Parts: sequence; structure tokens; C-alpha cells
Amino acid sequence: MNNIGEVHYGCTGCGVCVNACMRKCIYIKKNKEGFYEAIVDKSKCINCGICKDVCYKYFDELTNKEYSIYESSGFLAYSNNKKIRRESSSGGIATEISKWGVENGYNICGASYNYEENITKHIILNSVDEIKRISGSKYMPSYTLDAFKKLDKDKKYIIFCTPCQIYGLRKFMNRNKINKWILIDFFCHGTPSINLWHKYLEMIKKQINIKNIDNINFRDKKEGWHNYHLTISGEGKQYSKNFKEDIFFRCFLNEVDLNSSCYNCKLRFNKLFSDIRLGDFWGPKCLKDELGTSIILVNSQIGREILNKVENVYLEEVKFNDIEISQYGREINIPKIKSRFQKSLNTKKDLEIIYKRYVSPIEKKKKVIRNLKRIIRRGKKGIKWVIRS
Ligand SMILES: Cc1cc2nc3c(=O)[nH]c(=O)nc-3n(C[C@H](O)[C@H](O)[C@H](O)COP(=O)(O)OP(=O)(O)OC[C@H]3O[C@@H](n4cnc5c(N)ncnc54)[C@H](O)[C@@H]3O)c2cc1C
Repeated sequence: MNNIGEVHYGCTGCGVCVNACMRKCIYIKKNKEGFYEAIVDKSKCINCGICKDVCYKYFDELTNKEYSIYESSGFLAYSNNKKIRRESSSGGIATEISKWGVENGYNICGASYNYEENITKHIILNSVDEIKRISGSKYMPSYTLDAFKKLDKDKKYIIFCTPCQIYGLRKFMNRNKINKWILIDFFCHGTPSINLWHKYLEMIKKQINIKNIDNINFRDKKEGWHNYHLTISGEGKQYSKNFKEDIFFRCFLNEVDLNSSCYNCKLRFNKLFSDIRLGDFWGPKCLKDELGTSIILVNSQIGREILNKVENVYLEEVKFNDIEISQYGREINIPKIKSRFQKSLNTKKDLEIIYKRYVSPIEKKKKVIRNLKRIIRRGKKGIKWVIRS
């Protein structure tokens, strides 16, 4: 067997292999955990191995030395348009680049929330009015196939994706000698499952007594960028909770439900396959900012050229260290309860019960560790702080 089916673990669901396959014998299916996964129809496969060339499962750190993050230039940046900044996840840079792209003959490919199916899908657009459809982070895997199938190697695109989707696209571009596509990814913590999202929506719909949802904002900045809310509206009613209290974010940020390939992701920090990488400029440098500020990493000549041309953006070159401390670079440990948590999402149990059983104990343990560390660091002052909190 010479196809991606020979290694079972670690499919990112990026969908690039489906396009790369000449025999059209790969398809994408949502697996039991709620992530997209590529499946090979062995009866049609001729074992040419092309799918392996574009697949993250075969990523080899040694042969990809040229893509080290430490060679990129780093910037602090935000859109000068406060509305765009407020409506984006961080500083609105993706929107400004998209606007520049449309005005300069590029098609834009990005992730859009589909309210009929309650999933996220990549779409292609070419007008400024449509850009709002892709702006903002959607914390779930995006279905790329419909959009990726339409990509034409002779047309100009700016493509926004997760680092693993970008990896597949870069390999596909290299194989097919494509040079008109510009690839933009973001620092990525990992994606939670579609199963978690759907279980959560069931709970919210019950809570606010609605059947249909017409707007979702995963990063509502109504109380500031650092205190972002998950806001869901429908039938004139609204749910809105700060990420520290919202159950979906608590499951996501406690890392109990990421895709298997996310835990030891090799693209989270060290290796880059994009022309530009974006991110939230968390950390000491922007502590007082509540509108949102982005990191921009420029990783190629074409990335540099675009950054010089995009207008309406505040840009300040920063030391790499400022970026490093703002991001999460390490491997994430797979929690022991991950598979039980994910199985329980397929049962009839309510998310609140699942959360109390599996996530709450992890949070309590983390709190104890945090308090102990504070006491060790600060002595008496630390003890007082712990008693007060
Ligand atoms: C699952 C996920 C995890 C993330 N983890 C981190 C992190 O750990 N650290 C960090 O600094 N930033 C992270 N981000 C990125 C961050 O939230 C912002 O998107 C980024 O800072 C760019 O902000 P912006 O305001 O310029 O653009 P935004 O308006 O946020 O748009 C960014 C682009 O992201 C694309 N996008 C949105 N959702 C998805 C998706 N599910 N799959 C693929 N593409 C998508 C859209 O096409 C859009 O064009 C994550 C984003 C996602 C979706």
C-alpha cells in the first residue's frame, strides 16, 4: 500500500489529498470524534503515492529546515479602522489584507460559518462586501473541499487557513508549480470537534428557547479583547458569556477535545509554510489594549511585498522574543479522559453533565497547582492572595 491509508493516526482533515489524487479515490468523512478525516477507496487506488506528498502525516522536520519560524520578521499590527478591528478576532489584519487582495485582482479563500448546517466551510469570494463572511475565528474544523476544488492554478488567490491546511496547500503548490497563491495561516492552539460544537448548540438553544441561530460571534469584544465573549443570537434572543465562564471555551481551552493531530502539532510554533502568519498579540506589550492587536510574521519575499502594499494598517517591527512570550509553543499533553470525553459527546447526556464529570476535576487540579506555585513564588503574600480568591 502506497497511500495515506497506511498511517491511521494524525489526519488533519485538511482535504488537500482529495484534490491531489488523480484517480479521485479519496473522500472526506466526519469521524466518530467529530473531525474530518481522509479515507482511501482501496479498490480504486493505484498506489501512486501522490497523496502522501501533500500529507502532514508524513511531515519530516529534518527535510523541512528552510521553514524555521526564527527566520521570520515580526510585527505588532492593527487596522486603523476601529470598526474592522472591533469586529475581528485580533487586530483586523486578515480583513485589511483581504480588502487589498480584492482590490488588486485576488480571489479570497477563507472560512465562513454556515448557519443552515451549523458547521464552518471554506468559501471563495471576490468582492469587498463579502469579506465579513470570513472574518473572525470559528473554533471548529473547517470543511475545505468545496472551495479547494474550485481553486484554479492560473488564478490569483489569498488563502486563509490553519497551519496544517496551509502545509498541505504548500506541498500541493510545490508539486504543481503553482506560484499565484498567497498562503496565510495563524498561530493555532488546535481545533475542538464538531461534536462538541453541536452538543453545545443543543444546550444553548434549550437555554434561550430558540430553534434557529442567525448570528454567532466567537470573539465578541463588547467587554474588551481580553475579556471576549461567545455571543449567539436567534429569533430575537441572545446568549452571551465571557470565555472564562462559557462551557464551550472551557472544554476547548482545557484541551480535552482537540483533534488527535493537534496535540503534538509540529506546525504550532517551529515550522511555517505560509507567506504570512497572524495571531493575537497577547502578553505584556498589549496588556492595556482592548480593541485587539495582531501579530504578523512575514515568512517570504511575497509576504513582505504584500505587507508593504496593504494600506490602513498600523505596523511596528518587534523583537522575536515579544512574539514568543505571547504564544503557546509547546506540545499539549493528551488528557487521560480525552477519549471518554469524546465518546460521551456521542451519547444523549447533556453537555453540562459531561463537563462536570470530565472537565471540572481538571480545572480544580489546575487551580490547586496555580495556587501552590503562587505561594512558592510569593511566600506570605501568595498565601493571602489564595485565601482571598
Ligand atoms: C481554531 C483556531 C485556533 C486559534 N488559536 C490561536 C492561538 O493559539 N493563538 C493566536 O494568537 N491566535 C489563534 N487563532 C487565530 C486568532 O483567533 C485570529 O484569527 C488571528 O489573530 C487573526 O486575527 P484577525 O483579526 O487578523 O483576523 P480574523 O478576522 O480573525 O480572521 C482570520 C482568518 O481566519 C480564518 N479562519 C477562521 N476560522 C477558521 C477555521 N476554523 N479554520 C480555518 N480558518 C479559519 C478566516 O478565513 C479568516 O480569514 C486561532 C484561530 C482558530 C480558528
